[in-house]
Amino acid sequence: MFELLTGRIKNALDKLTSSKRLSEKQINKSLREIRLALLEADVDPQVVKNFIKRVREKALNKEIIRGLNAGETIIKIVYDELVELLGKTHSELKKGTVLFVGLQGTGKTTTIGKIALYLSREKNKNVAVSSTDIRRPAAMEQLKRLCEKIKVPFYEFQGNPVEIAKKAKEKAEQEGRDYLLLDTAGRLHIDEELMEELKKIKEVTQPSEIIYVADAMQGQTALEVIKKFHEVLGITGVILTKMDGDARGGLALSIREALGIPIKFIGVGEKLEDIEPFYPERIAQRILGLGDIQTLIEKAQKTIDEDTAQEMALKVLKGEFTLEDMKKQLEFILKMGPLDKLLKLVPGLSAYADKIKVDEKLIKRKIAIINSMTPEERRNPNIINLSRKKRIAKGSGTSVSEVNKLLKEYKQMKKMLKNFRMDRLSSLKGKFPFRFPFPF
Ligand code: GDP
Ligand code: MG
Repeated sequence: MFELLTGRIKNALDKLTSSKRLSEKQINKSLREIRLALLEADVDPQVVKNFIKRVREKALNKEIIRGLNAGETIIKIVYDELVELLGKTHSELKKGTVLFVGLQGTGKTTTIGKIALYLSREKNKNVAVSSTDIRRPAAMEQLKRLCEKIKVPFYEFQGNPVEIAKKAKEKAEQEGRDYLLLDTAGRLHIDEELMEELKKIKEVTQPSEIIYVADAMQGQTALEVIKKFHEVLGITGVILTKMDGDARGGLALSIREALGIPIKFIGVGEKLEDIEPFYPERIAQRILGLGDIQTLIEKAQKTIDEDTAQEMALKVLKGEFTLEDMKKQLEFILKMGPLDKLLKLVPGLSAYADKIKVDEKLIKRKIAIINSMTPEERRNPNIINLSRKKRIAKGSGTSVSEVNKLLKEYKQMKKMLKNFRMDRLSSLKGKFPFRFPFPF
């Protein structure tokens, strides 16, 4: 989602020397490139100007940070400022009635389904959903179906939008719901009637949040629209949808600074699972091409418990990486979902994610090969001679050459992981808020 920006910034930062001093010339040169990269990514020009000014001031006044060289110091400053620009901390959804507003087609209804699923499944909240979008009957039906699918109650009432909102709010209170997610109608353009209706809905529901759902593909032109809604309603948060598309990221980087409204979530696909809480630190890491280690860890924790992960990491660090571990890793990769998305989250690999194509079928064949080995063979692959290879190939429905290939990959992986530990982990440690060095 920030590929272009990441590529450009990485380029600018890669050129920085590893000298011990920060020269003004060096600072100006890299800031010029970062400025261009941000403008190209469609970040609001005023936001870019302020951002660059802050980074320059900090860089000029900054001693080289202990343990870092000049280039790394600038990266650290840019990182800190990006986190600041994106809003510093994650902003949760306050309990109560949450109104979703925005123009038509930005993804409001889909996003409500996603948030309902997220709150009820991941956060164990008691959620209900309702819709005041009576103009298009299909819109209500769409949300109702989504709710059936995720087993979240959908309140259906007759009447005008304001009456529906009021009844839904009362019912949610009676039933002691943590959240009532309320859909509203959108228009192709802002108009008085829509705004009046939303103002009245706000009055009768006293919402805890008014969320503007914005299509990230629209870039900074959306800023003006959000601003108008904000003036009339007081927007408390933004959800950016379609971040999986070729949005250049400009809106994500502009909203907080230009309007002072936090981004709460980002939508990254059409499926109901495709939503992520917005964490400024993680996004900043992603933009700088460092990958998104915390999101990765959360995904990892969902599929294997931390003990196994720790144990695996320790083994890798000690150089004891067996075929059994390789199998666990392969299974783990399969469990974690779409691989191209995942790779973008891995530090060091994010810049290459597009070049690396991972084939799930192939991974399954590899797992089958390891499954056909005896425990002894998995512990000590050196004993796998030709006749054993033939047996393994037959057992797994593969060929001897595939078995050979897997064994070769295992050896390479083992070697790579040993080297990775030496240069990458130690040089990254302490620089960024990594909780746990994951061995990929
Ligand atoms: P609404 O008019 O604002 O309620 O918009 P809808 O929820 O009906 O969504 C409009 C279209 O955008 C639908 O085709 C959705 O599948 C699509 N959509 C919504 N969110 C996302 C997203 O995060 N990524 C992608 N790729 N499509 C999305
Ligand atoms: Mg809708």
